[in-house]
Amino acid sequence: MAEDPTAKISDIKPKSFEDLIKNVHEKDICGECGGCVSFCTAADIGAIEMTEDGPPHYSNEENCLHCGICYLICPETFELDNELNIKYDFKPPIGNWLKIVTAQAKDPKIREIATDGGVVTAILIALFENNLINGALISKRVSSFQRISFFAKSREEILEAAGTYYDLKGPVPELGNYNTFVSTISELKKINYSDYMKIAVVGVPCQIHSIRKMQELNIIPAHIVKYTLGLFCYENFKFDDVARAKIEERFNFSFKDIEKINIKDNLIINLRNKDTPLKIQFSELRDIMRHACRVCENFSNYFADISFGGLGSQTGYTTVMVRTKTGERIYNLAQNKGYIIEPKDLNSSVEKSKILAQIISFSKKKLKRTEEFEVR
Ligand SMILES: Cc1cc2nc3c(=O)[nH]c(=O)nc-3n(C[C@H](O)[C@H](O)[C@H](O)COP(=O)(O)OP(=O)(O)OC[C@H]3O[C@@H](n4cnc5c(N)ncnc54)[C@H](O)[C@@H]3O)c2cc1C
Ligand code: SF4
Ligand code: SF4
Ligand code: SF4
Repeated sequence: MAEDPTAKISDIKPKSFEDLIKNVHEKDICGECGGCVSFCTAADIGAIEMTEDGPPHYSNEENCLHCGICYLICPETFELDNELNIKYDFKPPIGNWLKIVTAQAKDPKIREIATDGGVVTAILIALFENNLINGALISKRVSSFQRISFFAKSREEILEAAGTYYDLKGPVPELGNYNTFVSTISELKKINYSDYMKIAVVGVPCQIHSIRKMQELNIIPAHIVKYTLGLFCYENFKFDDVARAKIEERFNFSFKDIEKINIKDNLIINLRNKDTPLKIQFSELRDIMRHACRVCENFSNYFADISFGGLGSQTGYTTVMVRTKTGERIYNLAQNKGYIIEPKDLNSSVEKSKILAQIISFSKKKLKRTEEFEVR
């Protein structure tokens, strides 16, 4: 619709959290990334906060300045996307990239506990040990099935947060509302930072998208984020009591026997009483997918400095997409200093084109899914 030429600037009402409620929460597409809360809290406005298990809400509505920043930085609004697409040279469906390889951490201790090849952990340790960061915003286990956002400030703490295995040696785990997604960036505000602080953030595409929007606006707390390490993400799941019962019955296993969960080309579940992992296709899990994921178009994390996934690589290796010059610099540092290795035989041009083809295929599938839902 054409703009009303008689409208006065004073008539233009900036968007606010109320518009987020209307355009995102009420459409059931809030991904609970925590971006809106991280700005509002870091700026000491404190109008909104995350809820325990759902979208953020007004905690002190009277504090709201109606500044509209939360609306701009939400990955579910289209605001600032044109600017980001230009800045990061976005080309559909997988975005810009400088290099795609399969790699692994050189340190076998990292590989043993990592999700795939441990490259994310190895790069974080390289950044830390070479004084490029003061810490990294990642996620760590707090009980068998629960992970929380975590600001790691040492090599040991980065190691502690690697991987997605579950420690089931002790008593039968409390399952609770197990969610494969962890709202990490809302915790940015809790980091006791100075403007000189430099951090890396690991996140799925919706989280990195929100951080890039904040950086585009030059606002706190994203100014301390120097490196964005993005994870591939096809979808995430909320395994509440009902979902768990459904899945256990559908695939004939018990959550209490899970040793490791990985999201790759399928949901891959290692069970302690089985030699081969259970592989469940995403299409068989549609009814327990988080609602926001239905409309998410970004599989390969195209605004990150480097993207990582299991897709395309053998077990024990991580697929790496170096995207920006910053990403290239830190990847080269980690490789040259012996933190990561790229086996030659797995990185022939034939192998690399197979990896690229898989990333393109999953990205297209995800785009198609979004179009089908047509929620927007
Ligand atoms: C929720 C989620 C969905 C994913 N979906 C896919 C997918 O569909 N296809 C695919 O190929 N790959 C997917 N990945 C990426 C894949 O599982 C690996 O994380 C990636 O290959 C890196 O492996 P690595 O061994 O190098 O990482 P590691 O060295 O094990 O390091 C992983 C890092 O990620 C952090 N982390 C773990 N869980 C979370 C979380 N929930 N939120 C934020 N940070 C977290 C850890 O703290 C750690 O620092 C997903 C990852 C996550 C967390
Ligand atoms: S003060 Fe601004 S950022 Fe905070 S809730 Fe209100 S509109 Fe959103
Ligand atoms: S910024 Fe994130 S948490 Fe906030 S409304 Fe948007 S999707 Fe939800
Ligand atoms: S698919 Fe992944 S990136 Fe997209 S909304 Fe869901 S959790 Fe976020």
